[in-house]
Amino acid sequence: MSRRILIVGGGYAGLTAARRLLSKGPRDIDVTLVSPHAYMTYQPLLPETAAGTVQPSHVVVPLRSALPGARVLTAALSALDTDRRVATVTAADGTVQELAYDEVVLAVGSVTRILPVPGLVEHAVGFRTVEEALHLGNRVLHALDRAATTADAATRRRALTFVFAGGGYAGIEALAELEDMVRRTHPSLHCETRWVLVEAADRILAQMPERLASYVHRRLAARGVEVVTGARVESIADGHVRLSDGRVLDTETVVWTVGGVASPVLRQVGLPVDQQGRVAADEHLRVCDGVWALGDCASVPDIHTGGPCAPTAQHAVRQAVRVADNVLAHVRGRRLRPYRHKDAGAVASLGLRKGVAELYGVPVRGYLAWLVHRLYHGSRLPCRRRRLLVTILWLLGSTSREPVALHALESPRAPLQDAHRHQSIA
Ligand SMILES: Cc1cc2nc3c(=O)[nH]c(=O)nc-3n(C[C@H](O)[C@H](O)[C@H](O)COP(=O)(O)OP(=O)(O)OC[C@H]3O[C@@H](n4cnc5c(N)ncnc54)[C@H](O)[C@@H]3O)c2cc1C
Repeated sequence: MSRRILIVGGGYAGLTAARRLLSKGPRDIDVTLVSPHAYMTYQPLLPETAAGTVQPSHVVVPLRSALPGARVLTAALSALDTDRRVATVTAADGTVQELAYDEVVLAVGSVTRILPVPGLVEHAVGFRTVEEALHLGNRVLHALDRAATTADAATRRRALTFVFAGGGYAGIEALAELEDMVRRTHPSLHCETRWVLVEAADRILAQMPERLASYVHRRLAARGVEVVTGARVESIADGHVRLSDGRVLDTETVVWTVGGVASPVLRQVGLPVDQQGRVAADEHLRVCDGVWALGDCASVPDIHTGGPCAPTAQHAVRQAVRVADNVLAHVRGRRLRPYRHKDAGAVASLGLRKGVAELYGVPVRGYLAWLVHRLYHGSRLPCRRRRLLVTILWLLGSTSREPVALHALESPRAPLQDAHRHQSIA
């Protein structure tokens, strides 16, 4: 009888694990992948997507075409019975299905960390999905349109102020890319814009070596960005953001990038989780008999540091290869191998042709770092054809694009409704 392997989560980890199982596994394994979206999102390139230098279609991978030979269900895990080895999944229309499995691989990733800040959920924008990235890019361009049109000085100032909460990679890269986009595309308005980064810790980019983080801080400050450390966003209301150091910022745009916590579904289905909501896996990526976990949702020991692996794409993709090989080894009755990966470093883009990186301890800055960033991420995209196409397109054409605010995308029925209103009046 064929072995049924169920992968839960169609992100970087889940997709890579499924592809590995399909390419290395025997013909009699049956791979099913369940994910609420029909596509995987390559999150490291969302800042460039927001700024329009990377096309949205280049950062998403349709799961069904990337996984010929697998069964892909667009649904979410809603219950897990590890004794009976049955997962319950629920589709967007509420349809519930039970899936029997022999091995289940949990790769449900993480969600934005929510803190008890009044007005946060009502007014802020997150930054983890391609939809959020597109919305944010549009929102910034729309704010520029409004500022250029209004005769009211306070409205103009508020529209041109952009606040980012969280000074990790996501917040820094999103701010730097958007500030750079406005500088390139709206030079006359750019000099009136105000960009504020608020970080609770006493320095930005805690994951990066201090000298590189302070280089980024200096570069941003030289571009006019206000980097506020040691302060928190306390409330967001009526176009005002209040900080814990007493500052009040007038703005319509607050971007919430304070990091993530593991997907709450793990707790909901009754798995034991740590304080970050992650399920503990051993060095073989095994949680218990028949259950495996990896990526942002799992606490996997990092043999090199002694602590858990950081929630990065770098670990997710390598753990995916290891988990697939271990699941196959287990099925064939062979020895499992531990997960080992020494962090190769970090790369961050700070706008077009600007970046910072540390590769195996060697610091790289400016244009070279940006090139490393693009080539590295190009080489990590899933699917060979996509990798080649995207890398060539980036290197040839990313400077010439002029982003336009397509605000109507968020209300596509408005033109029809307007037409109907006018014609009914007539
Ligand atoms: C803006 C941004 C920039 C980043 N930049 C970098 C970078 O430069 N370098 C780096 O190494 N890392 C970076 N990261 C982190 C990196 O993207 C993640 O570590 C990586 O995507 C983790 O992969 P994953 O598969 O575990 O999770 P994800 O890619 O988040 O995938 C999780 C999947 O599980 C699905 N899912 C959730 N709940 C359920 C459910 N109930 N049932 C079924 N499926 C479910 C989700 O829809 C999703 O498809 C960045 C992250 C962000 C947000």
